Amino acid sequence: MAIDRFGRNIHYLRISLTDHCNLRCIYCMPEDQTFRPNADLMQDDEILLLTRLFAGLGFDKFRLTGGEPTVRANIVEIVRGIASTPGVRSLSMTTNGILLARLAEPLRQAGLQRVNISIDTLDPEKFNRLTRWGKIDQVWEGILAAEAAGLTPVKLNAVVVKGYNEDDVIDLAALTIDRPWQMRYIEMMPFAGVTDVQTQQVVTAAQIQEKIESEFGPLEASGEYDGEARIFKIRGAQGQIGFISSVTVPFCSACTRARLTADGVLRMCLLREKEINLLTPLRNGASLEDLRQMILDAVWHKPWGHGLSQGVIPLNRAMNEIGG
Ligand code: SAM
Ligand code: SF4
Repeated sequence: MAIDRFGRNIHYLRISLTDHCNLRCIYCMPEDQTFRPNADLMQDDEILLLTRLFAGLGFDKFRLTGGEPTVRANIVEIVRGIASTPGVRSLSMTTNGILLARLAEPLRQAGLQRVNISIDTLDPEKFNRLTRWGKIDQVWEGILAAEAAGLTPVKLNAVVVKGYNEDDVIDLAALTIDRPWQMRYIEMMPFAGVTDVQTQQVVTAAQIQEKIESEFGPLEASGEYDGEARIFKIRGAQGQIGFISSVTVPFCSACTRARLTADGVLRMCLLREKEINLLTPLRNGASLEDLRQMILDAVWHKPWGHGLSQGVIPLNRAMNEIGG
């Protein structure tokens, strides 16, 4: 078991498989974002070796993210390798869904259990504007393919940005009335790259909830969390509504996560700059025991929480390099 100095059991690893992406969401990266050369990214065997190390330390929950994880070459084989690693109990992916129509079934067969699909609006033009060139139909086909393949329960993520999609939260919430889906609204967080948008166009979870309630009446609180999301329901709906309010209602005391960036760097808090490079020592011949100790030490020193309320913004990486 990997325990930090505050007694939190850290057992959830989010692995960014690549910083590359087939979209350029305005809240994630600038349009002219450049990406790392593939040789700088963890290679398939390095990902699997590190997965085995983490699983050996008690990590049992894994999520693949990016950039866009589905643009990674050999994605199905990588999923198969991680899913079959002893100790891996839960394996999911966060994706923009663009390539899921053809990948959902093979990924499911390779051992992927669930997906979170990002969809910030149902309006084709607004979607195109938010993602700079995305086609909403492809995402919708991806969502249906995920459901058909059994990558369930389907969870949808929307980042809400002032001036772009704050009114669209209502149509998205309506999806949960007749479908057993979870619609999750994420407060925008600041990183490098597009910090101005991220700090000046935030819509808080409270404001989002107010908008949804103005249409559907008071939401029913379940009193439960699903991961970091506070869970609610529209009265009588089949699905759920979740609020991820990392900025206004941080959940740091319950955080059980670590993040591995696409270039093999361990980040113990999404919103803190401190990082521990694992890939360079691995390539320089560090022993498995050395790497194990580096991970345990990083876990022990996991920061208590982020510093957004004191104006501390992590600027050493853009969101797509960390994976969210
Ligand atoms: N490309 C995949 C996707 O978009 O789902 C996975 C990577 S993306 C970085 C992971 C999640 O982070 C997505 O749900 C995305 O909407 C969210 N995200 C991106 N930038 C964000 C920001 N500045 N604040 C909060 N969430 C953000
Ligand atoms: Fe790509 Fe996901 Fe970032 Fe959008 S949020 S640009 S889909 S990595």
